[in-house]
Amino acid sequence: MPAQPPSTLPPFDPSDPLGLDDLLTDEDRAVRGTVRRWAADRVLPHIADWYERGELPGIRELARELGSLGALGMSLTGYGCAGASAVQYGLACLELEAADSGIRSLVSVQGSLAMYAIWRFGSKEQKQEWLPRMAAGEVIGCFGLTEPDHGSDPAGMRTHARKDGTDWVLTGRKMWITNGSVAGVAVVWARTDDGIRGFVVPTDTPGFSAPEITRKWSLRASVTSELVLDEVRLPADAVLPEVTGLRGPLHCLSHARYGIVWGAMGAARSCFEAALEYAGTREQFGKPIGGFQLTQAKLADMAVELHKGILLAHHLGRRLDAGKLRPEQISFGKLNNVREAIEICRTARTILGANGISLEYPVMRHATNLESVLTYEGTVEMHQLVLGKALTGLDAFR
Ligand SMILES: Cc1cc2nc3c(=O)[nH]c(=O)nc-3n(C[C@H](O)[C@H](O)[C@H](O)COP(=O)(O)OP(=O)(O)OC[C@H]3O[C@@H](n4cnc5c(N)ncnc54)[C@H](O)[C@@H]3O)c2cc1C
Repeated sequence: MPAQPPSTLPPFDPSDPLGLDDLLTDEDRAVRGTVRRWAADRVLPHIADWYERGELPGIRELARELGSLGALGMSLTGYGCAGASAVQYGLACLELEAADSGIRSLVSVQGSLAMYAIWRFGSKEQKQEWLPRMAAGEVIGCFGLTEPDHGSDPAGMRTHARKDGTDWVLTGRKMWITNGSVAGVAVVWARTDDGIRGFVVPTDTPGFSAPEITRKWSLRASVTSELVLDEVRLPADAVLPEVTGLRGPLHCLSHARYGIVWGAMGAARSCFEAALEYAGTREQFGKPIGGFQLTQAKLADMAVELHKGILLAHHLGRRLDAGKLRPEQISFGKLNNVREAIEICRTARTILGANGISLEYPVMRHATNLESVLTYEGTVEMHQLVLGKALTGLDAFR
């Protein structure tokens, strides 16, 4: 193929070296722009302070604003949800996580875990009761699967629900639950005589409490809690009727993981941008450190992994929109993109030298946040085992 004269080529854009913007529709760009502007206005000016204090102040107000942007349950349809495409939902996750993984976690848990569980497996009444208020951000939801002794292997969960007349009575403990202490509704998974079932638990039900987990060094601007269920009595219709077994929570987790595939690249983008800018202005040995080959090698490798990751996320989004995305493909994306994002953040940290450890820059905050993202929604090892099983046909989980 004859080479095109350079003058007819579009200019090289350091923020989009592969020209991935061409893959987006005008509507995709509009969604991305709206979320990016909201995050720039409402999160970025405060996030270092929130992170330092280990708080997410005004979380209810933020949730309502995210609701009015259409970001909660964004790709769900009906009940006040935006009915956006999977690609648009992904772009929103990327922009939110470019601000902070804690904000993206708030949105993921609300939309892809709590709302999605009700939307996919709930009764008509449950959907009508909860989804419109959750989409508007008036009610915050949480999703209780993990327990103190059962994380990667939730099949062994101890939380149980027994029948008492027509009521259900729930007892047990859940651990590391995002949004727990601020939630108005909790989707709780519990063992029953018929297998694992999901329950929609209003958090003002007697016997329910959600003490906040403090002293975290990651996702500090995110509420993480324990859920304590002490003989929580619920009516017969509190159970999610449309699913039995671990298939229920695992299906919801797949949906949330898809958002993380995009989100992680947002954290990585923020760190890359900080490193690129720093490399252009910081001078050592008489010239900008970006002029040294070793720094350029780092920046080039970071850019390659960042934009490969975005391309992968986009590909998975298109498959999801086409109804063709397999769980193993989501594992592929989560495994790669979170692992590469954390590497990009760590490399950015080295380019910033001592300043890299300061909260004046976003780099260390993103890197420590990604330590949680690496672990939740399936650890690296779990996704390696999912792919290993799909590749070999051999189950190495046990
Ligand atoms: C900030 C934060 C927020 C969270 N939010 C939620 C939430 O909203 N809802 C919720 O339900 N949970 C939530 N979690 C919990 C999260 O999903 C779990 O931490 C995760 O599933 C891992 O469980 P674990 O921490 O018990 O680790 P473990 O399962 O104990 O694993 C410890 C290590 O052993 C490895 N391992 C385990 N089994 C194997 C094996 N078969 N082969 C090889 N290696 C193995 C793991 O990969 C990991 O490296 C959150 C966690 C964090 C940190």
